[in-house]
Amino acid sequence: MKRKEVLIVGQGLAGTLLAFELHLAGVKLCIVNNPQKSTATRVAAGMVNPLVFKRMTKSWMVDDLLPVMKNRYSDLEELLGERFYFDLPMIKPLSEQEAELWFERKADEKFAPFIQDICETSPVENVFQSHAYGIVKGSGYLKTRIFLDAAKRFFQKNEMLIEADFPANQGNFENHIFRDIQFDKIVFCEGHYLKTQPLFDFVRLQPAKGEVLQIYAPDLSENYIINRRVFVLPIGDHRFKVGSTYEWKDLSVKPTEEGKNSIVDRLKDLIHVDFELEQHWAGVRPTVIDRRPVLGKHPVFGHLNLFNGLGTKGVMLAPYFAKEMKALITDDNYAINNEVDLARFL
Ligand SMILES: Cc1cc2nc3c(=O)[nH]c(=O)nc-3n(C[C@H](O)[C@H](O)[C@H](O)COP(=O)(O)OP(=O)(O)OC[C@H]3O[C@@H](n4cnc5c(N)ncnc54)[C@H](O)[C@@H]3O)c2cc1C
Repeated sequence: MKRKEVLIVGQGLAGTLLAFELHLAGVKLCIVNNPQKSTATRVAAGMVNPLVFKRMTKSWMVDDLLPVMKNRYSDLEELLGERFYFDLPMIKPLSEQEAELWFERKADEKFAPFIQDICETSPVENVFQSHAYGIVKGSGYLKTRIFLDAAKRFFQKNEMLIEADFPANQGNFENHIFRDIQFDKIVFCEGHYLKTQPLFDFVRLQPAKGEVLQIYAPDLSENYIINRRVFVLPIGDHRFKVGSTYEWKDLSVKPTEEGKNSIVDRLKDLIHVDFELEQHWAGVRPTVIDRRPVLGKHPVFGHLNLFNGLGTKGVMLAPYFAKEMKALITDDNYAINNEVDLARFL
């Protein structure tokens, strides 16, 4: 029988980033992914925004997360021979009150890496008329499907990927065997399917369905992401991703008329150019009740691990916390930050 050190369940952002982290450290691993199950990563707009506009604060841990994120995607672009991460400034139309707060933040050196400017007129034509326009730097986006597909080809070439379902009720967790391979450790990176996983039913997941559109708008500038009640993210060829919605009751991955109309109404308020609707997707974000990732070892079966809770900001969180997860798996004495520790739910 073959033996490997780690089995990763799920090839979304969490499983993919963790697999690279372990592979590059020389750990022998396999990923099992069920392509019939929905993958939030595939429908995500992939946007990275270092600020939280509601209170004009920095996004949680952004100073630590952003450099790790940029390095990791850039290294993987080289390894996989494909481009998938793009820096792009963002425009935020500001009310008079918001502009005052923006000026305050601009004067604060802690915000210097993220606030580029404040302008009286919009750098982009045909957008919502506002008192002023803040320009964010450090923002950008990941082409999530291109990234997952390039990673998948790499894993297949290196015989690291099994396309199958990993059953939730595996009887013998002591000595784990899957498809004739014996694994020392398993890491569950199942996204919102965590809720079907009895082993970790104590984690307080609060999944949120989201919908995203793709539009074709030949008269809209592609130089900025625009963000006011809805984001408009240029992805090339005059195509833009637009989103999104939040829904906590209907957790199906079916796009809805209400979702589409809600996005289109906000979009028409923001951009004043003709557009064609081309695509409409829905997915479920694996969000945890306290909006933090969740990492750690199972309290009884120490060789079973969890890496989940990437919520609304998976693109920025996954590279940094994949490193943390690797440290936890490879070093039995590694102490994880309490804020993300699975033990907070025990
Ligand atoms: C509409 C929408 C828009 C979003 N926009 C953004 C954005 O702009 N920026 C951002 O940073 N984040 C965004 N997100 C959030 C982001 O998508 C998530 O944080 C991230 O993709 C979660 O990754 P994950 O690997 O945890 O889960 P997933 O991507 O869902 O991956 C889980 C994988 O596990 C597999 N799986 C599950 N159970 C099993 C099993 N038993 N056996 C085998 N395989 C299994 C599934 O098939 C799936 O491939 C958005 C999400 C949605 C829904």
